[in-house]
Amino acid sequence: MKTKCVTFSKNVFIPVTNVCRNACDYCGFRARRLEDAYIIQKKEFLTLVKTKGAATEALFTAGEKPELSNHPLSSFFKKNMLYSGYSSLLEYTKELCKLAIKHGLLPHCNLGVLGKEELKELREGNASMGLMLETTAAELEAHENSPGKNPKERLKTIAEAGELKIPFTTGLLIGIGEEKEDCIRSLEAIKSLHGKYGHIQEVIIQPFIPKPFTAMWNKKPPSFEELKEVVRVAREILPEEVAIQVPPNLTSPLELIELGASDLGGISEKTIDYINPESPWPGEEELRKIVAPFELRERLPIYPGFVKKGWYSEEIRPLIEWYADEEGFRLRRSDGT
Ligand code: SF4
Repeated sequence: MKTKCVTFSKNVFIPVTNVCRNACDYCGFRARRLEDAYIIQKKEFLTLVKTKGAATEALFTAGEKPELSNHPLSSFFKKNMLYSGYSSLLEYTKELCKLAIKHGLLPHCNLGVLGKEELKELREGNASMGLMLETTAAELEAHENSPGKNPKERLKTIAEAGELKIPFTTGLLIGIGEEKEDCIRSLEAIKSLHGKYGHIQEVIIQPFIPKPFTAMWNKKPPSFEELKEVVRVAREILPEEVAIQVPPNLTSPLELIELGASDLGGISEKTIDYINPESPWPGEEELRKIVAPFELRERLPIYPGFVKKGWYSEEIRPLIEWYADEEGFRLRRSDGT
């Protein structure tokens, strides 16, 4: 019998900005004070992508719609963008995606809720895109000050990505105040959108981890048993072609793989996990040992099934053809490239 294969990818993690219109109670990423606000500068970005090592993916993460709030941090963001010659996060990120491609990286953007026109603008320069649904539970205390966490808005973005045939990553954040039934409803909602558009490549099951200086610093993270139960239910609900991803720097993957998880997400040799900076990623060899006896296999930010279906643009075709093997996984050449 063929051993089940567990996949992962290699990325360069690029935090475009930590300015965000939302204020989620568990978030340790967003800037709260002007002195902590950050926008990656082009020079810094180029240094990162030029030293990409074996990575194939440029993972762009940013606060959501940083232009759209009355907070002084929004003025900081807008002034900085104008000074650099860009009108918005979208325009700037599009430019960074082009540069990433030029330097041999396949972009994957996660910029929060986006409209269809915005998704369309990013599509050509992205191998895949992502937006955590987190939960369909409305009116969670943790999301009281986060208009972008309205589940209807998030489901709309995920649906519109499907209409545009964008290979898509979404996921659930476990332990932020939702009930077990909410997890089931969230998974059913994802299943239904995938049934309509066929574009969901993976669903991340991510545990909430308390961060210092946040409103939820003293809340307990979900237990491993709770996490196992969500993975088990997710495997039952989601169709087989949708992978379940569990982050290896936030949990112990082996038991979750036995329950149906089959992907470990992206790891980076060069950059940290800016969302969970206290949790370093294991290296590839460590991952291989962690998942044994399962086979570890590297993929691209676009899953093999979508590579084979040709769900990518002409702009990134040369990179996909260079990086992918005949099955759509990462090709390993004898010279290590
Ligand atoms: S939307 Fe994301 S970046 Fe913004 S506050 Fe919430 S978790 Fe943080």
